[in-house]
Amino acid sequence: MATHTNTMHTAYARTFCMLVVLCLLLPASLARADQYRLDTPTSQPLGKHLLLLQESSEPLSINQVRQLSRDGAFRPSHADVPSMGIGTQPVWATLTLDNPGTVALPRRLMIGTSWIDRLDLYLVHNGRIVLHQTAGDSSALFMRPTPGMGYVFGHDFGPGRTELFIRADTPDPLLLPLRILTPDQATRHALRQHYGYGMIYGFLLALVAYNAMLYLGLRQRSHRDYSIYLGLFILMNLAYTGHGYVWLWPEWQGLQRYVILVLMVAFACSGLRFASDFLELPRHAPRRAQQLRSICLAICTLMAITIALGLQREAALLSFSFTLVFTNSMVLLGWESARHKHAAGYYFLAAACSGMAGTLITTLTVWGWIPYSEATFHAVELGLLTEATLLALAVAYLVRQHDKARAKAEELARIDPLTGLLNRRAFMEQAEGLWNTARRHQRPLALIILDLDHFKAINDAHGHSTGDAALRAAASLVNNACRRGDIAARWGGEEFILLLPETILSEAQAMAERLRAEFASRPLENMTDPVWLRASFGVAARDAHYTLEELINEADTWLYRAKQGGRDQVCSLDTVFSPSAG
Ligand code: GH3
Ligand code: MG
Ligand code: MG
Repeated sequence: MATHTNTMHTAYARTFCMLVVLCLLLPASLARADQYRLDTPTSQPLGKHLLLLQESSEPLSINQVRQLSRDGAFRPSHADVPSMGIGTQPVWATLTLDNPGTVALPRRLMIGTSWIDRLDLYLVHNGRIVLHQTAGDSSALFMRPTPGMGYVFGHDFGPGRTELFIRADTPDPLLLPLRILTPDQATRHALRQHYGYGMIYGFLLALVAYNAMLYLGLRQRSHRDYSIYLGLFILMNLAYTGHGYVWLWPEWQGLQRYVILVLMVAFACSGLRFASDFLELPRHAPRRAQQLRSICLAICTLMAITIALGLQREAALLSFSFTLVFTNSMVLLGWESARHKHAAGYYFLAAACSGMAGTLITTLTVWGWIPYSEATFHAVELGLLTEATLLALAVAYLVRQHDKARAKAEELARIDPLTGLLNRRAFMEQAEGLWNTARRHQRPLALIILDLDHFKAINDAHGHSTGDAALRAAASLVNNACRRGDIAARWGGEEFILLLPETILSEAQAMAERLRAEFASRPLENMTDPVWLRASFGVAARDAHYTLEELINEADTWLYRAKQGGRDQVCSLDTVFSPSAG
């Protein structure tokens, strides 16, 4: 009995002790990682299953870490992708993986960032370390367990539990997007990524090539700067997604450590340069253009110094801060130019806003200020695609504006501003063509020159502005007299010229006579004072002449004759008709 009672007491005591131990262990067990079942794989990042521990000073060994894990020193991560920010102490992450079956399960462990300097991965099975592998920027690509995007480790997980420990060490932003995928899922994941990036790069490369070609053809700087800006975005994107390291510089392990940061700065500088040119800041806001140049120069110098001194953390802080400054500046520049009604200011503002939103979201995600998700991590790509499209439209819009302005300038160079008729130069250009056609086909062609009579007196009597109005009214009379195919122009101060294709001398003479009579029949219309204008005419036909100049000279001679003969008359080779002024 006593033995029985003793046994009972011992059993109670044992149970009590176990309860106490359980209660003591409870907080620790709360902080223990969920078991992740390997037989029901998800392709999502597993951050919320992870427990994390940050090293405080000395690097910890795997055995110390296993002990700390048993002691409950790890804390749960609350994000799908744990994000510790820039320049933090190395971080340990742990997770228990469970294979409830009886056969080994092949799985790929994938950490989808490309810039972690050193990653150590340990697998502990049945109390034994069964795998220790390292990867990271500081080791060459071919040394990685699985060459490719991000860091990938493969393992066949035996039945039962396996503990996973990962140590990540980098002065760059520390992100841990961990996925555990079946080989099939891994292939599909990689395919999806390849197609996605293929589309983005394809679209952007097409824009780069198109703008580069436009630059070669048109020599417009905005095309060149825009293709450099986009080209640098592609390079930066290649670098931070890891494509660059895999495809372009696999041998250069030193490069991968700084290349992202350097390209971020170069991208931002090229963006500011494009903005400055595109918005014509050197012309409209020379001080602002100078400020931008100085800022870029200062940042590049600082960047060079930090790299030369090997200050990777400072270089990271510098490039991330500058990216924020850059995106904000683009929006401010767009805002200013839209406010000042710059031709493509609104396009630029909309483009800058979408680019900024994307860059800002991704930068803050990588930096650890906003939670990681596929959408926030890739926001920069979506933002930049939208920006690239809008800027391409803006560049095209600007080209159209320039074309319009040039066409306008050309038009202005051909038109006499006072009367709206062709000027002398434009007349000669057009007349030459008609002259050659008429000569080649032996067709008739005639010419009339007219000069207003005593026009100086009108200026003197009514003032110069009335004189101008009179010239406009005279031009309108001349223009109305024209038939389809005739060319009328202001030849000089108060002289006009008419070229008449398919017209023989007598027809031209009759036309000149009608015009003369029209001048003489009534005072000019739409004038404040009644102003009478009369004009003298010289008429000539092509027949005997070899050049257009000869024809003009002949008409001019007849005009002189008309003036000599008392003005208000038409003179030509066979003038028979010359009524005196009424
Ligand atoms: P004539 O009958 O011999 O041609 O005498 P005129 O006074 O018309 O000829 P003249 O060549 O002596 O003077 C031409 C005048 O035309 C002188 C000039 O001030 C005036 N004139 C030339 N171009 C313009 C212009 O654009 N506007 C005005 N208001 N006057 C002009
Ligand atoms: Mg005159
Ligand atoms: Mg004159």
